[in-house]
Amino acid sequence: MTLSIVAAVAALCAILADPAISVTSHPLLLVVSFDGFHPDYVRPDVTPHLARFRLASASPPYMRNVFPTKTFVNHFTVATGLYPETHGVLDNYMFDRHNRSMHYTYEQFHYNENVVPIWTQNENSGGGRHSGVMMWPGSEFPYQGKTSTHVAVYNYSTPWSSRVDTVISWIKDDKKPANLVFAYFEEPDNTGHVFGVGSHEIKNQIVRVDTTVKYIVERIKEENLENKINLILLSDHGMDTVTYDRIIYLDNYISNKTCKVEVTGPNAFINPNPGKYDEVYSNLKNASKTHGTFDVFKKEQLLDRWHMKNTDRLNGLLYVLAKPGYAFWDEYFKDLLKHTTKEKFKAGTHGYDNEEPPMRAFFMASGPLFKRNFTAQPFDNVDIYPLISHVMDLKQLASNAVRPNGTVAAVEQLLAERPGSRAGGPCAKGSLSVVACVASAAMTLRTASRYL
Ligand SMILES: [Zn+2]
Repeated sequence: MTLSIVAAVAALCAILADPAISVTSHPLLLVVSFDGFHPDYVRPDVTPHLARFRLASASPPYMRNVFPTKTFVNHFTVATGLYPETHGVLDNYMFDRHNRSMHYTYEQFHYNENVVPIWTQNENSGGGRHSGVMMWPGSEFPYQGKTSTHVAVYNYSTPWSSRVDTVISWIKDDKKPANLVFAYFEEPDNTGHVFGVGSHEIKNQIVRVDTTVKYIVERIKEENLENKINLILLSDHGMDTVTYDRIIYLDNYISNKTCKVEVTGPNAFINPNPGKYDEVYSNLKNASKTHGTFDVFKKEQLLDRWHMKNTDRLNGLLYVLAKPGYAFWDEYFKDLLKHTTKEKFKAGTHGYDNEEPPMRAFFMASGPLFKRNFTAQPFDNVDIYPLISHVMDLKQLASNAVRPNGTVAAVEQLLAERPGSRAGGPCAKGSLSVVACVASAAMTLRTASRYL
């Protein structure tokens, strides 16, 4: 190594360790979710930045999500490490305790007051840890009386670049710099629902995701955070397409005189009126046998591997699930049909069995905590909470808190093995000697473009 290179590396180290750069002294992690983004959407010709990011990161071919493969369900699983039967969010639309429709309410996200989302546990861990949550489903509600230091409520009209800029401002906040940030983006899900998988419109949104990843990485570099920040990109579920001939009209088999129905896409909760449970079940069961387009379940018949049935929220209800490629007629489809014909009707939907490949989620992790250029084995999204808790050195949950269902065992494969990597990156102030910092920075120079 020549003297000039040594000087350059030393200067780089000085910048990286500069106490004037106002960020947390803790490990720093940004988790970004793109709703409905299937792992197969990553293609070098369509999403060049994501493709390069994946190559440079620790990433499984896909991440296993939880059933039903819906947005609120899976985002709350990522936030809590819990299966739906434990955190209580069983769909985006469900019945409340008075058998009324419930959609994005405090009650929906508070089945158990002892559930502690990881953004709350991060702040509970003290030591100047602050969380920031940008539009993540369920994030603006207080948990155990606390909301995160930095919160932005979901607003579709906020430009994505502004959301990224706000996230960076939370990380750089003078008084309360965030060490753990979650950010949510509603595409390609929204557009996928309207136009279906494979449409020109969803492709535009996939490209928009790619452009946003590029922007996030550029902002990280601009702020000299490349060797400090850890970046996880993930999704909640994939998407499938339904044509009009595969729409199921539940009204053909049951009546609003015998039950109430809460339906979205391929999933429906059926709430039989008093004394009508057996009649409604047998009508649905006969239709299921005749047509083979959906299955009907009593609470206790739901599959064990779905981890959905052991909850009071299903007491007295029946559950129906459409077969892949089918969905139940609902208000959303009704609206879509106003703008097209039955022949041209093509809608995106999700919520099917989490073992169906089109429902899969994606996961990529990059930064000092994670291996580079590493193809991981698939793991479950309930393991993300233990992963974050582990790498962020969070304290043990209080004795009355609900323990995550996931474990760190399946996600340890993702972690970099460099000593000191959990102390805030290779050049975090006081974490490593200058010699080690120089060596580490030299390595950084060789791989400076690990994000893209
Ligand atoms: Zn959706």
